[in-house]
Amino acid sequence: MSDGIEIVEDLKIAVPDERIVPTLDPTKIVEVKATILGDDLKIFLRQETLVEIYEYSKTDVSHELGGVLIGTFHQWKGQIWIDIDGYIKAAHYVNTAASFKFTHDSFSAITREKERRFNDKPIVGWHHTHPGYGVFLSNYDRFIQDEFFDLPYHVALVVDPRANKFGFFQWKRGKIESCGFYFVRPKPQ
Ligand SMILES: [Zn+2]
Repeated sequence: MSDGIEIVEDLKIAVPDERIVPTLDPTKIVEVKATILGDDLKIFLRQETLVEIYEYSKTDVSHELGGVLIGTFHQWKGQIWIDIDGYIKAAHYVNTAASFKFTHDSFSAITREKERRFNDKPIVGWHHTHPGYGVFLSNYDRFIQDEFFDLPYHVALVVDPRANKFGFFQWKRGKIESCGFYFVRPKPQ
């Protein structure tokens, strides 16, 4: 299925810039969600971005939906962290009640929208739904992660819009594993 599909931006990956992690940043308020281990990639998400993804996920609870997470990646004292601040719904996808596939056209449209709406910020992961069958990564999902989202800061977000459950997954020692994240918002002045 992956004939000729690649995310072209992989060719211009830069070293992440040094930036204070939001948990130590006095201008930010962060809220821990689920368990975060010391050596985890730290994932920061704005609540409004999650709401946007959730609302889209609920537009079809009989078929899987998906898209990509847009953001930036940074390092702080040797540890990489990502800031997810946008979402692009995939178009031209192929889906069923229990599968979701990006196509070459999905990625072309995502690239255009990313340039237009997000000043060409990097993709930091992907999202898809599991309507009514829980939060996990199937073998096929792991294949997608491996094929298209194989950088250390590429995460997966799975939403079950029927159960109102969701969860993140990240690379750890070459495997993709479930993980926690932080909600982040600016501290009111
Ligand atoms: Zn899946």
